[in-house]
Amino acid sequence: LALLGPAPGAPCCPHGPALLFVKTSQGKEEGRRFYACSACRDRKDCNFFQWEDEKVSEARLAAREEYNRSQQPCFTHRQNVDRYKNFVLLPLSKRRFCQECQQLLLPAEWKKHSDHQFLCDITTAQLKNPSQLLYPLENKKTNAQYLFTDRSCQFLLNLLIDLGFRRVLSVGTPRLHEMIQSKASQEDFNVRGLLLDIDFRYSQFYTEDEFCHYNMFNHHFFGGEAARETCRKFLCEENGERVIMVADPPFGGLVEALASSFKKLMAMWSETEKEGHDNREMPMFWIFPYFFESRILDFFPSFSMMDYQVDYDNHALYKHGKTGRRQSPVRIFTNLTPSMIVLPEEEGYRFCSVCQRYVSSGNQHCEICNSCTSKDGRRWKHCVLCKKCVKPSWFHCNNCKCCTLQQHSCEKTDSGCFVCGKAGHKRSACPSLSRS
Ligand code: SAH
Ligand code: ZN
Ligand code: ZN
Ligand code: ZN
Ligand code: ZN
Repeated sequence: LALLGPAPGAPCCPHGPALLFVKTSQGKEEGRRFYACSACRDRKDCNFFQWEDEKVSEARLAAREEYNRSQQPCFTHRQNVDRYKNFVLLPLSKRRFCQECQQLLLPAEWKKHSDHQFLCDITTAQLKNPSQLLYPLENKKTNAQYLFTDRSCQFLLNLLIDLGFRRVLSVGTPRLHEMIQSKASQEDFNVRGLLLDIDFRYSQFYTEDEFCHYNMFNHHFFGGEAARETCRKFLCEENGERVIMVADPPFGGLVEALASSFKKLMAMWSETEKEGHDNREMPMFWIFPYFFESRILDFFPSFSMMDYQVDYDNHALYKHGKTGRRQSPVRIFTNLTPSMIVLPEEEGYRFCSVCQRYVSSGNQHCEICNSCTSKDGRRWKHCVLCKKCVKPSWFHCNNCKCCTLQQHSCEKTDSGCFVCGKAGHKRSACPSLSRS
């Protein structure tokens, strides 16, 4: 399956314009092209499908539009903002949150939710930390909502501040946004944030200037031109307030679709103010697993991968690796100068003066590669035959003529692996994905 990208005039599903795909076999495009939902990789979440050359009747188009409308949230963002204003005026004893509907309730609505589970006495602190009030949407294929640990979130925010940024465009990073927003209400904190996320539940807690309902796979603003304008305005660096984009997309997502949207957001920034930027790119942190490094660099050659291990509260596999615990494979990709990204020495990161960047404690500088080559935090070993460093658990297979896992099968497949792009295995058997 290959993505042909966002196509002009593409039909819409409830998640905005669909993306154009084509079935591929042995690297060649084969068969009919079709449109499918940009956001949901699971047909159960959105079953939109249309052949590119399919004639769709007026009646079906009308039915589709009707369906798309029916799938929109029951309150608009504006309505949610008004509801919030009323909610905070309520005494604590009347502040309820319906856990089933994931909604703040006004007293007149209690009856309708009487057989739902709800939380009482919602405090101002809880309202300022919606990511803890809302349950994470963990369904792997669509939302994959994995929330930063406090350690990672604090680190990111401090890093941004130390780098001099005063505006943060959070794309799928609600917890970072919430940390910024709750600090912004304290004095002496002059960072502003805008959250772009497909999770509309957040519209209950943020105004239209703080949150836009957005799909990062097709660059679709559900709030239309007004929301797009909010984003554009935010990217204008008035008063010299520098802006950075921080994105933490679902890992199952299509890298090319994400890259295309991020480029459009960057273009929005470039168009805001001509003279200041010269040919610079909008600063960005793209948080993604290290085994997507080559894919990300394909789209953003100016990016480099930092060794910092980002970890998550609700993801057992992606916990920070101290003694005995698993290492997180999630990293920061950035177009900022690597030497400026200072990683915490108390967690074992140190500065490599040859590579001019901070590296993890296990990452040894290889004299032959002349670089700190470990991607996963463990010490890698140099293979003279492959002429590069490989994972400590790999060995050189003379059949495959490359280093790989001991227990691999030497059968070759023609098409490259989806994850690492190398031939010889399928995605499911990708050595990059195995964390032994
Ligand atoms: N670590 C981040 C959350 C990352 S999880 C944090 O703690 O702030 C991925 C995020 O992307 C979720 O917030 C999810 O709602 C959002 N998301 C998933 N699919 C999306 C899409 N198609 N468009 C925009 N946001 C999306
Ligand atoms: Zn309810
Ligand atoms: Zn080496
Ligand atoms: Zn080798
Ligand atoms: Zn692979």
